[in-house]
Amino acid sequence: MTQPRTAALIVAAGQGVRSGGETPKQFRMLAGRPMLAHSWRALSAHPAIDTVLVVIGEGQEDLLNAALGDVPHTIGGATRRDSVRAGLAALGDGIERVLIHDAARPFVLGVVVTRLLEALDASPGAVPALAVADTLARGGVALGDVVDRNGLYRVQTPQAFRMRAIVAAHETWPADAEATDDAQMLRRAGGEVALVEGDTMLEKITYPPDFAAAEARLGTAMQVRSATGFDVHKLAEGEELWLGGVLIPHDKGLAGHSDADVALHALTDALLGTIAEGDIGTHFPPSDPQWRGAASSQFLEHAASLIAARGGVIDFVDLTLICEAPKIGPHREAIRARVAGLLQLDSGKVSIKATTTERLGFTGRGEGIAAQAIATIRIPA
Ligand code: MG
Repeated sequence: MTQPRTAALIVAAGQGVRSGGETPKQFRMLAGRPMLAHSWRALSAHPAIDTVLVVIGEGQEDLLNAALGDVPHTIGGATRRDSVRAGLAALGDGIERVLIHDAARPFVLGVVVTRLLEALDASPGAVPALAVADTLARGGVALGDVVDRNGLYRVQTPQAFRMRAIVAAHETWPADAEATDDAQMLRRAGGEVALVEGDTMLEKITYPPDFAAAEARLGTAMQVRSATGFDVHKLAEGEELWLGGVLIPHDKGLAGHSDADVALHALTDALLGTIAEGDIGTHFPPSDPQWRGAASSQFLEHAASLIAARGGVIDFVDLTLICEAPKIGPHREAIRARVAGLLQLDSGKVSIKATTTERLGFTGRGEGIAAQAIATIRIPA
């Protein structure tokens, strides 16, 4: 049995003036990426969703491109209803189920999506909802009567629909009537909407303090990871000495794969270790001639980009260089600034240390330089 074709529509056409700032809120940064990117990634990653379409406002193409690159999108209308209708039309034929989601709810949980799609087997529509826990009261200038909260729910998105049912509901909706959401439109058209369990992670972000609250909530969903890296290269005549991405004047240089920057290699391995992505040789095999003499800065940047692609954030890196000569002290700040630049970190999050081995061993005899590093990141659990 083939699975019905399923699409997700993210409505991101608003101007978001209530959240403050010039940029519409769906494109503002939240926990390391534009708000829209959170729900886009979650919906794209769900195994039951075949395609994700973003509905943006007039003139927001550049903002979308900066946030997500060249992803499927269409231009919405003046109202939310117009934007949804434009999105449904752009999805076209062949789609049997559609999830309609507001970009202002960035944290979409796969488990809620699964519940919604399962509910569509029995009903043409399904919404995530949470029972109201607070006391509800009417009010104006003064507190009015308490409203019985029994049977009252807060309705969230994404909302799931059988495609034909929601398209028909949009077509028959009176042109002059307001609609708060798509589920109400389906109900008005006679379609039953099932309630499935929502989640507090799906709260809407509207006002400036909501951004900080959402970051804090997400923070508890992030996992801290640390990993180490270690490397050694041989000192040889006639080689350049690259340490931490800085060319250091010395009578010998490091020999080996690429520019043999032992410091950046140890840091790269530490970063790769935090996401269990093998080591530098896995990504840049020494047998591959294209890496001969290559600048190791690109290895470090690649490792950082793999972490960023998983929604991770680098919190701190610490590096120890082990050698008798050259003296690292005079170059410490240059190395620190270079590593911070490559990782796009404040220099306060980069520590550079050095030690000798009291003239013992290969480092003590000046035959080579060793480096060890540790990196700490946070990544979605
Ligand atoms: Mg190496």
